[in-house]
Amino acid sequence: MDSYTELLSSFSKDPISILDGSILFKDYTPLDLSINNIELAGLEITNPETCQDYITKVLKRSNGRIAHGGYLEMRNLYTDKASFSDTPSVQRNIHLGIDYWCDAGTTVLVPLASTVHSFKNNSTKGDYGPTIILEHQLYGHTFYTLYGHLSLESMEGLYAGKQFKAGSVLAKLGTPDINVNYAPHLHFQIIRDMNGYVGDYPGVAAAIDLDYYKKNCPDPNVLLKIES
Ligand SMILES: [Zn+2]
Repeated sequence: MDSYTELLSSFSKDPISILDGSILFKDYTPLDLSINNIELAGLEITNPETCQDYITKVLKRSNGRIAHGGYLEMRNLYTDKASFSDTPSVQRNIHLGIDYWCDAGTTVLVPLASTVHSFKNNSTKGDYGPTIILEHQLYGHTFYTLYGHLSLESMEGLYAGKQFKAGSVLAKLGTPDINVNYAPHLHFQIIRDMNGYVGDYPGVAAAIDLDYYKKNCPDPNVLLKIES
């Protein structure tokens, strides 16, 4: 652990829920959407219904309610989206946050005291849809958390600087038509330097850029401690 991840880790020794607090941590199930998962061979995982069917199967066999994972996972989930290939030889396919797959409408909670940095509906197919970015101060350090694939209603009443207490309701998860074209899930990502982005920040990187992005976007689980 470097000093920055130690700082994030020191915030809480217990797991922090960022979804419907009535869902117990024992009901969270790891999900592998990487190119190495042989169960995905032959599945059109870019289709939200096919993806949802697979997630439902994983949840059923472990009796879980939220499937989660994906930090630094290389995926085939973006191969149908033009905005993920800057050039034909450079594919952005390495995921920089953790995804929490559960029902549309599930509430999203604020993990620690925050103010709204920015928000935007990134509505291009394959993007985040409604997105909120929060700013946090921890022991004199500033960092940001990004929440993607929310409902449109989640954008109502927001303004830059609006304050949220730890554990308060921030938003709800969106449906595939709004989120845009994924099975319902929350994309949660930690960002150290926003690099001037407003209401948006890359959630998927190309391998060639990964050294930078994995430093700027540390593993969210260091803060949340949901995966043991
Ligand atoms: Zn994601």
